[in-house]
Amino acid sequence: MSPTLSTALKVTDLAKSYGGKRAVDGISFDVRAGELYALLGPNGAGKTTTLRIVAGLLSADAGAISVFDVDARRDPLAAKQLIAWLPDEPLLYDKLTAWEYLEFVAGLWGVPPVSARAEAERLLTLLGLWDNRNDRCETFSRGMKQKAVLAGALIHEPKLLMLDEPLTGLDAAASRLVKDLIRERVAQGAGVILTTHILEVAERMADRIGIIKDGKLLIEGSLEELRQQAGQQGQSLEDVFLSLTATPSSGTPALAAPVVAQ
Ligand code: ATP
Repeated sequence: MSPTLSTALKVTDLAKSYGGKRAVDGISFDVRAGELYALLGPNGAGKTTTLRIVAGLLSADAGAISVFDVDARRDPLAAKQLIAWLPDEPLLYDKLTAWEYLEFVAGLWGVPPVSARAEAERLLTLLGLWDNRNDRCETFSRGMKQKAVLAGALIHEPKLLMLDEPLTGLDAAASRLVKDLIRERVAQGAGVILTTHILEVAERMADRIGIIKDGKLLIEGSLEELRQQAGQQGQSLEDVFLSLTATPSSGTPALAAPVVAQ
């Protein structure tokens, strides 16, 4: 690891079962401050479960989670102060306007009203929602709701952003805005972990990529490191991804053992 980058998130041997079935099976990875980490995997691989545990919305059966050196399982409130969580389904308080929603969320985080208003104005403008600030969220399209939830997630200036499918349902312009916002936060030193099924996004944006399947981390590293480890030099991320994951879920992946770049 570069000595200039601190660790935003460290997950060690995380495990979670539902009714005896392992959804997350001993996953370890870290996300550095100032880095975008893409967590990829086929449907049901365990991505959302992993992120929900880190966000403190689900309890783990085993493992350790450290957010900027805060033990998130021992001190979840302190960890949550550092985290932004964007769920894959945008949930808003429908009767509130976008502005009221952001005021409400900022109040929950204890953001001083003056800073909250300035940041709400900046985010709504950046995301193209300023003209809709006084409209109730129930009148918003899915993409508009997604953007409002993202603004709410960022209002307390979190140091670790966890974004579950942040681009799903967004049109091309909105997608570009959200990608720019994510890049801005990375440049400012936040750690960002996102899941996406749009592999081109991970290919273009991620500093490092982790691919999981059946709750296990199969491979991790930069795209170039993934290509080398998978023996897929010169191939696209999609080719690498499919070569590693396109086996029946009970089958053996192309890599027999986890290959984790240091
Ligand atoms: P997708 O790409 O489809 O969103 P994912 O990688 O995010 O998938 P998870 O939602 O984490 O996958 O699910 C991992 C596994 O855990 C799946 O087998 C899923 O069926 C199971 N699972 C998730 N939530 C529950 C739940 N509340 N109860 C029982 N099983 C669950």
